[in-house]
Amino acid sequence: MFCGGRTELSARFDKCGGVTQVKRVASLTALLLLSSAVQAGAWGASGHRIIGLCAARALPAETPAFLRTADAIWDLGELAREADRSKGAGQPHDADLDPGHYVNVGDDGRIAGGPELAALPRTRADYDAALRAQGSDSGKVGWLPYAVVDGWQQLVKDFAYYRIDQMGVTHGADAAQRAWFVKDLKLRQGLILRDLGYWSHFVGDASQPLHVTTHFNAWGDYPNPHNYTSERIHGPFEGEFIHQFVSDSEVCAAMAPLRAMDGSIMAETADYIGATRAQVEPLFALWTAGAFKAAKPDQARGFAVARLAVGAAELRDLVVAAWRASPDATVGYPAVKVSAIESGAAPIPIDAIQGND
Ligand SMILES: [Zn+2]
Repeated sequence: MFCGGRTELSARFDKCGGVTQVKRVASLTALLLLSSAVQAGAWGASGHRIIGLCAARALPAETPAFLRTADAIWDLGELAREADRSKGAGQPHDADLDPGHYVNVGDDGRIAGGPELAALPRTRADYDAALRAQGSDSGKVGWLPYAVVDGWQQLVKDFAYYRIDQMGVTHGADAAQRAWFVKDLKLRQGLILRDLGYWSHFVGDASQPLHVTTHFNAWGDYPNPHNYTSERIHGPFEGEFIHQFVSDSEVCAAMAPLRAMDGSIMAETADYIGATRAQVEPLFALWTAGAFKAAKPDQARGFAVARLAVGAAELRDLVVAAWRASPDATVGYPAVKVSAIESGAAPIPIDAIQGND
């Protein structure tokens, strides 16, 4: 959910009350009147589920088959919500994790006047240090890019061990070793589903314009030459509107074809978030023009479907990129390249894999 994690939002716009359930209302207009009582998701549950489902359904045949079963697709739809569902666990859990859902990029393309989105420091520690030099910190302005990047890196590592487990099932030295690999492969499949599904939430958040801007709820106390609405549009846009007006089938159908990642994951993530940020003003313009309250909100629906489809396509593309990167990843210690093991140039580092230390 959005409310618990937005320190600045809580301070500047209040709301985030104790209401945890909102009864479905007959019209969006009525909902907007109630918006101060809405706890919004990010996207809401429906938006995240749609992104997870559409990405999973679109995984190409080159990816592991266990990810493409009907059960796995269902799992990935629900797991895409998990980072919201785990909110409210207490401190330090919430304060540590909630800022991973957003990044408040300013109109100058910088975060708190410090790091540029397009040239982020390599680590969260360096990012935080750069923000503190500006009198801010990552807990206040968010660290969504790092949630996307480190989740992807984890997925690459998961796929690396999955590849070795698959080899071990048939190439283990003896029956006992092969039986161990059968069990470890099953464990790794579960881990991949969990890691991919949990991380997918943040890939989804990064397609929501209001998660990547200082204008994260209302336009706020910034120059406003276009007289954008002062309404708090975050929750009504990403939550009830999606639930009421957008279906998974139309989002899946609107996805772009598979696109290969051709740079670093950090650069890819910056580009992706930058493209999302470019949709902040179009969203405010649509809202200000009344598109989200129209009797037939086709234009607003089109905007929402396009955003969700971009999120789903990015998620699919990043999963494929992780799978393709996994032969170049390493396993064990000392590290051995997966491709060297798969080609037979190096043996399975069995002691390291099995933890025989
Ligand atoms: Zn989120």
